[in-house]
Amino acid sequence: MYFGSVRFFKHLILTVVALLIIVPTILCIILLCDNNSKSAEIDRLNSIIASGEYKTDTSDTSSVTESSGITDSDKETSSESSTTEAITEEPETSAPETTTEEPETSIPSQQVDLTVLYEDMYVTPYTGEYINDDNTVYLTFDDGPSVLTENILMYLRQENVKATFFVVPEDAEYCRILLRKIAADGHTIGIHTASHDYEKIYSSPEAFLDDFYNAYSLVYEATGIKADIYRFAGGSINDYNEDVREDIIAEMSRRGFQYFDWNVDSNDWQGYNWTQLYNSVLSDASELSTPVILFHDTGMRENTVLVIEDIIKALKNKGYQFGSLSQKTEPIQFG
Ligand SMILES: [Zn+2]
Repeated sequence: MYFGSVRFFKHLILTVVALLIIVPTILCIILLCDNNSKSAEIDRLNSIIASGEYKTDTSDTSSVTESSGITDSDKETSSESSTTEAITEEPETSAPETTTEEPETSIPSQQVDLTVLYEDMYVTPYTGEYINDDNTVYLTFDDGPSVLTENILMYLRQENVKATFFVVPEDAEYCRILLRKIAADGHTIGIHTASHDYEKIYSSPEAFLDDFYNAYSLVYEATGIKADIYRFAGGSINDYNEDVREDIIAEMSRRGFQYFDWNVDSNDWQGYNWTQLYNSVLSDASELSTPVILFHDTGMRENTVLVIEDIIKALKNKGYQFGSLSQKTEPIQFG
């Protein structure tokens, strides 16, 4: 009998030994190949980082998640809360590895002739005198449209008040519908940004123009409105745009656009509750003749919707009227 014979056990032992050698060898080869491909991938990423493309790549990725419309809170936390946020975020990107590369990325950007870009992105600037209405409140809502927009519009309609929406439009039907509703109610639509990605839009003046053009085009296609006012993501002075802000403002002004900051921050971006919002807005606005109040029209800011009606009523009781911003309004600008 073969089974149970000495020959059988010899073959069995040989087979087991062979398997013990062959299997680990194959595994080693597979792991080695895998490791080699990982090394190649690491080399590729290193070369991308060295060539300065890394910032663009990462910002593109983050902009995709932001523009999904779900991460409104992200937009905000990286937005008007700039001063605090930027302190923690900046070191990550401007870490030592990039210090030597910065000149390389900024030099080509300065060589670009901005005037040849986006020839259809011009508006007629207002050159007359500003219309200064004392005791006028300008409610401004950044980062929308969102799931809250219709609620905000309802309260504004109910109180017969016009406001300004600095939008972050998306190429989506729901967004186009909401933009049209904002316009139909007689509010001003200003441009905020398309991506709300600081590192991307403030990497160079042409990057800003590129982002702005996306937002501007989406608004125009949805509403037929050529928005002629805008608000910088993070405000006109923030930790990301120091090197480019003057060039951006100069180019945007040349194209006829006017920007607005704010003089009252509702602080809804940092999660103020109803009472905090109500008290802080009323107290800050009451000290000014023309308060330009920063709110956020994003999915995470339900308290803004809940408090807006009472804030409007209280400010009316204090003798204020309400207006929407335009180029005829004397702009509130930082600095
Ligand atoms: Zn914003």
